[in-house]
Amino acid sequence: MIIPKEPKLTPAQLAEVEAIVTEYNCVIQPIVGAKRSIYAILGDERHETMINRILGLEYVDRVDQIDSPYRLMDIHSELASGELTLGGVTLGKEPLFIAGHCTIDPKQPNLLYETAEALKEAGAHILRGGVWKPRTMPYSYQGDQKALEILVEARARTGLPINTEVMDDDQLKLVMDAKIDMIQIGARNAVNYSLLRKIGAATAGTKTAVLLKRGRPMAPVDEFLAAAEYIAAAGNPNILLCPRGTLPSIDGYRNHPDECITQLLKEKTWAAVVVDPSHSVGRARYVPGAVLAAMSYGADGVVVESHINPSHGIGDDPKQSITPDVCRQLFVDARMVWELRRKYNAPLAG
Ligand code: PEP
Ligand code: MN
Repeated sequence: MIIPKEPKLTPAQLAEVEAIVTEYNCVIQPIVGAKRSIYAILGDERHETMINRILGLEYVDRVDQIDSPYRLMDIHSELASGELTLGGVTLGKEPLFIAGHCTIDPKQPNLLYETAEALKEAGAHILRGGVWKPRTMPYSYQGDQKALEILVEARARTGLPINTEVMDDDQLKLVMDAKIDMIQIGARNAVNYSLLRKIGAATAGTKTAVLLKRGRPMAPVDEFLAAAEYIAAAGNPNILLCPRGTLPSIDGYRNHPDECITQLLKEKTWAAVVVDPSHSVGRARYVPGAVLAAMSYGADGVVVESHINPSHGIGDDPKQSITPDVCRQLFVDARMVWELRRKYNAPLAG
């Protein structure tokens, strides 16, 4: 990992570095952060002469060689010094609240517009809304491109940044054309490495953040971080990790709530953890408790399904969406738990 003295290399400097690493069958991948860029050496970066030649360049501050299977996501990576600000929230400085429909109903755009206005008023920072949905049955509603237009319109009306899930290249192109603020990679695609790479590459150098859900089977911590590494290594460090419950489920809950993984992630990575309690527990009445639990385990934020009128929603909304009214109180209480939890953060860092 090459750390330049200035916030980024000039094109001529980059070309010079590239010429050196090519001799050793390596390539350079710029990782563009909000404040500075760093340059990953992809390939076998242990050639001593190659490293020494790079260190000899006057514009290079240092070359970090992190012994980790996920060297960009690792807590000791230079990326740890970056800051991510979304919807006016700098992660780690205050809790991030993402909320909105599981699934946007393209026939009833007003439901999203009303939800978005009410959520904004309730204190949400980012609006979520499913355009295309990963459905178990091929005959269930699969999504509709028109829903993307509705989501974009909701952003225009409220000023809230927007998040939606992408499952393939065509969808990726459409959301990038729409200047999406956050792309969600769902639990079913969490280990779809070619998709992770493509999303990382398509969003490299943009402000678009990527919310990576944890895989549905009990994906170990290292597997979760390695999946995130694909996105970072393709050029985008604006990554949020999203535990959302795993399978097999606890009887009565939709999944096995896994918000406690946050403490383990925080010891290994600098990335923000934004928990999805809605898919963990799968019932609206259990969601508030799961939100508070997520905060007490040290989450940087939550993403909850919320609908102005859940029984008129589609997808998961009728069963697991909470109303913006509930969100208003819940966000206040979640913020209190987040503050309370911060008192105990110091020992974890040690
Ligand atoms: C969703 O967010 O609506 C969704 C389908 O989530 P997951 O990928 O976690 O199941
Ligand atoms: Mn859902």
